[in-house]
Amino acid sequence: MDWLGELKGRYQDRCLPGEPLSRHTTFRLGGPAESLVFPVSQEEWAWLLAFVRRRGLPLTVLGHGANVIVSDIGLPGITACTLRMETCSISGTRVRSEAGASLDMVVSKAVDAGLGGMEKMSGIPGTVGGALWINAGAFGQETYEHLVSYSALDPEGRLVRRSKAETRFGYRRVEGVEGLVFLSAEWGLSPDDQGRLRQTREQTLRARAEKQPLEYPSAGSVFKRPPGDFASRLIDSCGLKGLTVGRAQVSPKHAGFIVNLGGATAADVMTLIEKVREAVRAKTGVALELEQIPLGFK
Ligand SMILES: Cc1cc2nc3c(=O)[nH]c(=O)nc-3n(C[C@H](O)[C@H](O)[C@H](O)COP(=O)(O)OP(=O)(O)OC[C@H]3O[C@@H](n4cnc5c(N)ncnc54)[C@H](O)[C@@H]3O)c2cc1C
Repeated sequence: MDWLGELKGRYQDRCLPGEPLSRHTTFRLGGPAESLVFPVSQEEWAWLLAFVRRRGLPLTVLGHGANVIVSDIGLPGITACTLRMETCSISGTRVRSEAGASLDMVVSKAVDAGLGGMEKMSGIPGTVGGALWINAGAFGQETYEHLVSYSALDPEGRLVRRSKAETRFGYRRVEGVEGLVFLSAEWGLSPDDQGRLRQTREQTLRARAEKQPLEYPSAGSVFKRPPGDFASRLIDSCGLKGLTVGRAQVSPKHAGFIVNLGGATAADVMTLIEKVREAVRAKTGVALELEQIPLGFK
């Protein structure tokens, strides 16, 4: 049997051949996945990892698609999305969630339970898995700050459990996670006043809506913060707000964002990124580093 037939047999209606990834990314662009699947358990992930090894297929893991730029050609082999693994539970001061859970949902539950330490990460779109991948954060709080441990499968399908102490991480950087599929995470938070936490959450959500161009599809900040500065400040100082390639534009509201005005291609976005990088390098000498992750480019 061909690999797609075998995969379809196993995943049934949770296997979507040729699925446009523009439907599964916040940028709303990118070509199709040769096959998009939605595993629901650790066993299904282990089966999938064995399957891609046996068949020699490329595998891409996707969460909410809020930090990726998928090429216009799309992704070969299997794209596996974590969104069907989304449970989250709280016991005492411990918060545990599966990798496909929305990070904002986890934050909201923690706040409602009167647990502090993640409330300033309110409104970050994406899953726990995506947050573990890059140490997502906002307003001084980060995913790994109060992390106790994460569990994952390695490419051989072996279960890996790593504590925070065993993980090297920094600003939007995590070491030793290449090839892992995150399954779950556990945080240890601190009891705090629920009213105060709710207020911080509301303020944070309001600040995001005021500052960020949430009315357009995007994948958030394009570049990492350079040491001692902000990418958005540098881009703005070069007069690049509003710069447009095709239907992709440097947001006039927030220079750190590139938005899809409707119908942008991944090629538009990548060309615009290079133009911004070149202009900033020429004028300020700073080489901006991409935060967003290009997928499926040669
Ligand atoms: C409007 C907007 C605002 C944003 N604001 C912020 C912000 O304030 N702070 C911030 O840090 N980010 C921000 N982002 C970026 C994004 O929300 C985060 O990077 C988020 O963590 C991405 O999660 P995701 O599930 O969408 O990951 P995806 O985009 O689906 O994937 C990102 C990477 O993680 C990998 N990955 C995902 N899940 C797993 C898994 N289970 N196992 C292994 N690898 C996995 C993927 O392979 C990919 O390489 C913003 C994005 C948008 C659109």
